[in-house]
Amino acid sequence: MDTFPEPFTLSNPSAGTPTARRGFRVPFGLREGRVWAPGEVAKGLGCGCVCPACHAPLIAKAQTSRRRRPHFAHLTDTHCETGRETGIHLRAKQLIVERAELLTPAWNGDRLDMPNPAQARDDEGRIHVGSRVDFPAMQRRLADVEAERQIGGFRPDLVAQDDDGELLIEIRVTHAVDDAKEGLNNSRKAV
Ligand SMILES: [Zn+2]
Repeated sequence: MDTFPEPFTLSNPSAGTPTARRGFRVPFGLREGRVWAPGEVAKGLGCGCVCPACHAPLIAKAQTSRRRRPHFAHLTDTHCETGRETGIHLRAKQLIVERAELLTPAWNGDRLDMPNPAQARDDEGRIHVGSRVDFPAMQRRLADVEAERQIGGFRPDLVAQDDDGELLIEIRVTHAVDDAKEGLNNSRKAV
């Protein structure tokens, strides 16, 4: 009988622990115009980095840990929500500029807006089907990589030249991608 309350008591500490605050930890820090990974800087506050989004001081943590992923944390909680996304975005941009290469994704059409092969209906309602466009993923060498150049009414993250001409590059950071990568990493570890 007296064991009955125990599970309730035991579950209390974890139930009372706040879940990881989104944005409190950030994967990259900003210093002197560059975006750094935790393993590339001195430890703790000595890293000299600020958050790429809110520019508050960061501390580098778990740099040599085998159990925890190296990361930065805000020195004090600034309720920053975008440090993570902004950091990944800036690091990706820096990487493309410095490596001057990019794997462009394969394109296989869009079932609703741009079917592949293309289809059109004539005045009599007959459907005409065009040729299939084969556009595989490709490793591209880039030249003249430029950040944030205004082109007409919009500003792509990067503009570069490749063998086919001008390439406009947009970097998208989403949780869906993170989850997919996480799954990929886990499956690799499991092999
Ligand atoms: Zn921040």
